[in-house]
Amino acid sequence: MSGLDRFVAEREASLVDFRRSLHREPELGFTEYRTASRIAARLHELGYALRVGRQAMVEASMLGRPPASQIEARLDRLQGDATVARWRERMPEGMTAVVGEIRRGPGPVVALRFDMDALPIAEADDATHLPAREGFRSQNPGVHHACGHDGHAAIGIGLAEWLVRDEARWRGTVRLLFQPAEEGGRGALPMAEAGVADDADWLFAAHLGCHLDTGTVAACATHMLYSTKLDATFAGRAAHAGANPELGRNALLAGATATLNLHALPRYAGAATRVNVGKLVAGVGRNVIADHCRMEMEVRGETLEAAEFMAGRARAILESAAHMHEVACEIARVGETCAARCDAEAVALVERVAGRIVGVDRVLHGAPLGGGEDAPFLMRRAQDNGGKACYFLIGSTLADCHHSPHFDFDERSLGIGVKLFAGIVEEATSSP
Ligand SMILES: [Zn+2]
Repeated sequence: MSGLDRFVAEREASLVDFRRSLHREPELGFTEYRTASRIAARLHELGYALRVGRQAMVEASMLGRPPASQIEARLDRLQGDATVARWRERMPEGMTAVVGEIRRGPGPVVALRFDMDALPIAEADDATHLPAREGFRSQNPGVHHACGHDGHAAIGIGLAEWLVRDEARWRGTVRLLFQPAEEGGRGALPMAEAGVADDADWLFAAHLGCHLDTGTVAACATHMLYSTKLDATFAGRAAHAGANPELGRNALLAGATATLNLHALPRYAGAATRVNVGKLVAGVGRNVIADHCRMEMEVRGETLEAAEFMAGRARAILESAAHMHEVACEIARVGETCAARCDAEAVALVERVAGRIVGVDRVLHGAPLGGGEDAPFLMRRAQDNGGKACYFLIGSTLADCHHSPHFDFDERSLGIGVKLFAGIVEEATSSP
C-alpha cells in the first residue's frame, strides 16, 4: 500500500465526518460563513498562508450578491459559533472566498479549485434518503447540498492535510482556491479578478457525480454550457380589479406573457441551447391589479454565439412583454458561466494519474458535464498567462440527479478525490 493509500484509508472516517458536518449546515452562495471559516481555520492550523475575503476576491465583480439582510440573517443564525466569530470580520459582506497556499522551494505553481455553496432546495426527509436516515440531513431550512459541493470542500481539506506530510512528494507552490457561490455562476469571476490564478502553471477543477459511477474518472468535462442568469422586475400600477381595472398596469400579466414567450424562443441550429424561468412572484391579492412581478430566469448555449443569441432574444422578450402591458421592466445580470477549454497536456496528466489510482477502474478521456460552471473564469486567467488548465469529473454513484431533493453522492468518492488531486499535484510538480 502506498503512503497516500494508507493516509486516505486512515482519514476516510474523518473525511466523511467533515463532509457530513457541511451537509448538515448547507449555505447559499456568498453566505458560506460556517463552511469558509472552518476551512480557513483548518488551513491556518496546517500552516497554509491564507488570503481571505477581500484579499481573495474583487467586490466589484461579484454578481448576484444576496441582499445585506440575507447575509446578516445567516450570521445571526451562526451567533455563538466560535470559529465563525474568529473569521467573520475578514469576510465582510458575503466575501467568503478562502485561498490557502503552501510552498516547498522552487517549482511550478499549481492552483486547485473547490467550491463550497449549496442550493435553495428543500432536502428530502424520508427514510429512503441516506442523509435523513443517518441524521445529517440539512438543518438550514430550504437549503440543501444538492450538487455535492460539500464533498468538493471535504476533498480540498483532505488534500490540504496530505500535502503537509513529509511523505507527500511534491515541490513548488500549491494554492487551494475555496470558492463561494458557484451556483448561479457568481464566485469564480471575482476570485479570478483578484489574480489568484494569474501565475498558475497548472489549474485543475473537478466535479463529483455528473452521471458517472464511483470508480470512473473523466479527464475532461465536455459540453459545458455558457449561461447568463437574469433577474427581471416588472413595475406596474395597482388598481381595484372590479371598479377600475383599466387604471391598473398589470405587472403579473407582463411576467406571465414574458414567461410563455421565453419558453417559445426559436430553436438554434448548430448548438444546444436552454431556457428556464425558474421563479416568478407577483401581486398582492385576488382583487387588486398586480403592480409588481419578479422573475428569475436563465439561458444557456453550447457556444458563445448561441448563448449570446439566447440572452439577446430573452432581453427583447422581457422588454416587449413590459411594453405590451405598459409596465416598467428592469433587467439585472446576476450570474454568468462560460465554457472551459481543457489543455491537452493537462488532460493527459489527469488520465495518467487516474489510471494508477486504487479505486479507479475506468478512465474516460471526456464526458459531458451536463450544466454550467464558472471555474472556466479561473481556468482562462491561468491559460491567458501561459498556464495549463483542466476540468475533470470524479464519478460518484448518485441517489438521484443533481439539484434534486433526494440528491446524495457515494462517499467512497471522497477518498478517490483526495488521491486524484494529490496525484495531480505530485505529477504536475515532478516534471522539469
Ligand atoms: Zn455543482
